[in-house]
Amino acid sequence: MAQTTPNHTQTVSGWAAHDSSGKITPYVFKRRANGVNDLTIEIFYCGICHTDLHYARNDWGITMYPVVPGHEITGVITKIGSNVRGFKVGDRVGVGCLAASCLECEFCKSSQENYCDQTQFTYNGIFWDGSITYGGYSKFLVADHRYVVHIPDNLPLDAAAPLLCAGITVYSPMKDNKMLESPGKKLGIIGLGGLGHIAVKFGKAFGLHVTIISTSPSKEKEAKQRLGADDFIVSTHPKQMEAKKRTLDFILDTASANHSLGNYLELLKVNGTLVVVGAPDKPMELPSFPLIFGKRTIKGSILGGMKETQEMMDVCGQRNIKSDIEVVKTDQINQALDRLSRNDVRYRFVIDIAGKSAKM
Ligand code: NAP
Ligand code: ZN
Repeated sequence: MAQTTPNHTQTVSGWAAHDSSGKITPYVFKRRANGVNDLTIEIFYCGICHTDLHYARNDWGITMYPVVPGHEITGVITKIGSNVRGFKVGDRVGVGCLAASCLECEFCKSSQENYCDQTQFTYNGIFWDGSITYGGYSKFLVADHRYVVHIPDNLPLDAAAPLLCAGITVYSPMKDNKMLESPGKKLGIIGLGGLGHIAVKFGKAFGLHVTIISTSPSKEKEAKQRLGADDFIVSTHPKQMEAKKRTLDFILDTASANHSLGNYLELLKVNGTLVVVGAPDKPMELPSFPLIFGKRTIKGSILGGMKETQEMMDVCGQRNIKSDIEVVKTDQINQALDRLSRNDVRYRFVIDIAGKSAKM
């Protein structure tokens, strides 16, 4: 049994990694009783983010084992606390990466909870009561309602799940850098994976010219035909990179593995911006010349605030934006993680936690 605190009275079945092999096995643990501000959610689906793999394998050296990954969670409310407004039993809801924040700092007050310095995550975090958080690879979740969003009726719960992390992580920097109000501008996306493919969809929905910058030539045809990307550059092909120098206004870097930023920066116009959202475990190489000769900017970005997450969900509902998914059963989680580590997914695995997919 996992470390627990006295009010952790509910027994839940889930799946955890126990060491840096990252192997996932069934795991029974306790969750807190539903508090006054809480919702209990029966989990239907949970996306497999590359972050889950980083944590399961302790890539960043910060994993507290056993870890129950999963922060792209969708399901239905089964219990509601007495202080909760705006949700009712039976509502279709989603939970992303945030489990708690201080609620008092300038960032919490302006719904940028993702930048609060006391933010705790849905798994591998320490909740307000001192307990370790466990994520969505489990049958149900108790979540503070301030970190829960509604899922629009027209979005299926499986293909909506990845929006809770991958979706908001790309939407937020695109909005923050005014790309969503600048049709015709040229967006580059490094890495056509879970985050990258949703970025293509937002880019096209908001009228941008979208270029994918990929290490995988095999993804080109589908990226153009199915996702509607306008251009595709193979980043390991020096001639292709050379030909596209100074063509892009903005680049979103979603690459999960180590890479040097120099050649990518050269693709930006003068004054262009590159936002890093991918989180490789080693420092990225940053040569000064491409930065200074193009007066270019590099920034980072993590997730999005809760208001913005609901806004992103509503935009996806209105424009019918969902993730391209491969649904897997709970006994296929290890296979899916292995395939994700080999860059073999189009474009997001989603675990059918409740066994609902056959019935929906
Ligand atoms: P993913 O599905 O595995 O996609 C990552 C993509 O990166 C791959 O599909 C691949 O695309 C590309 N790539 C892999 N190795 C590369 C290399 N050496 N150089 C350049 N590109 C490479 O992963 P994901 O779930 O989208 O997550 C991506 C990263 O974002 C992870 O590090 C994750 O932890 C991080 N993340 C950050 C936030 C945040 O808030 N900042 C939120 C969620 C996830 P190609 O085959 O097209 O090259
Ligand atoms: Zn994630």
